[in-house]
Amino acid sequence: MRSHCTVLALAAVTLFGQTGLVTAQQPVTIRAGTLIDGKGSVQRNAAIAIDGSRITKVGNGAAETVTYDLSRFTVLPGLIDSHVHIGAHFGKDGRASNAGETPADAALAAAANAYAMLMAGFTTVQSIGAPIDVPVREAIARGQIAGPRLLTSVHQLTDTRLTPDEVRQFVRESVADGADVIKIFASKSIREGGGQTLSDAQIAAACGEAKALGKRIWVHAHAASAVRASALSGCTAVAHGSQITDAEADLMAAHGTYFEPNIGLVSQNYIENRPRYLGIGNYDEAGFKFTEDGIPLKLSMFKMAIRHKDLKIIMGTDAVAGAHGHNAREAVYRVQAGGQAAMDAITAVTALNAGALGLGDRIGALAPGMEADLIAVDGDPLSDITALQRVVFVMKGGTVYRNVAGR
Ligand SMILES: [Zn+2]
Repeated sequence: MRSHCTVLALAAVTLFGQTGLVTAQQPVTIRAGTLIDGKGSVQRNAAIAIDGSRITKVGNGAAETVTYDLSRFTVLPGLIDSHVHIGAHFGKDGRASNAGETPADAALAAAANAYAMLMAGFTTVQSIGAPIDVPVREAIARGQIAGPRLLTSVHQLTDTRLTPDEVRQFVRESVADGADVIKIFASKSIREGGGQTLSDAQIAAACGEAKALGKRIWVHAHAASAVRASALSGCTAVAHGSQITDAEADLMAAHGTYFEPNIGLVSQNYIENRPRYLGIGNYDEAGFKFTEDGIPLKLSMFKMAIRHKDLKIIMGTDAVAGAHGHNAREAVYRVQAGGQAAMDAITAVTALNAGALGLGDRIGALAPGMEADLIAVDGDPLSDITALQRVVFVMKGGTVYRNVAGR
């Protein structure tokens, strides 16, 4: 930390030395009325010390002089969504097809989604994923646009005709194109029934190659058979899993497979925005029927899944056009409709997600040495989970992006 500050100070001297504008970045202290650390602990009247982009101390806040007094609020780690589509948006005609749009339109829409999610308290998201994510990721990292720390799959494997060798080639190309994570579709869309599409051999080839290259891999799978093959192949995470039973939940738990059900936002968002989607691809009447019927099925699947205490249930929304910035609805729905304990939902959207993204030592918890990614919400999400939708303060990497706590 110290040497990092020295480098910054030297850079500042180099830039501003002649004009005397050197101002060393001062350490920041935040007082939290309630602090939820992301790993299941709660503390009252806490103080968090931050130096540069990192947390240096979490302690008792009573006697401290503070930079930001958030004593009326609950402070928690910046939220993490393991599954968004950051470029997905409604075009000029209001439709999800984005007809007649320029690359600049698409880039601005992605930037708007990034901003909406950051303002909603999401300081890291994983996009599953498209080529446009790469320049968006870099622009956010450089501080040119305000958005969550972004990880992306860049591509998605959907072609079921590939040989195992060609599947491995896809994985290598994704990595060469800058992918942080690999994405494959092992089953049909829920709008087409969700049946398994990739063979077990293709799934094994993809997950084996990703692992060999040190990359994580997300598998889109509704069918139980596809989920089973994914767990047995050592894939990192299964998204959706709408048709799983106790047997697949047990299998994923046994293999340490992260499970990412998407039950509270994506289907509801399609239905709320039905006219904007209807008539595009498989968004037809039959597709919407599958979507509507899927909501209660996914809810009962989730109620089954949370009974498996050793299953690592992470929080991804699968946010598409219309959903960015509403990501916390997933957590609210899990608690209110799914009966999940609020602390478990909060851990899923913080520390557990950080682990699934391979960033467990950097984000997802409030502790010394972690990135200063933290938010404040109005209310106590442990007793009222909707507090996660009332974000009043957002800090990412030590920089404050939102502060309406004084209003
Ligand atoms: Zn998706």
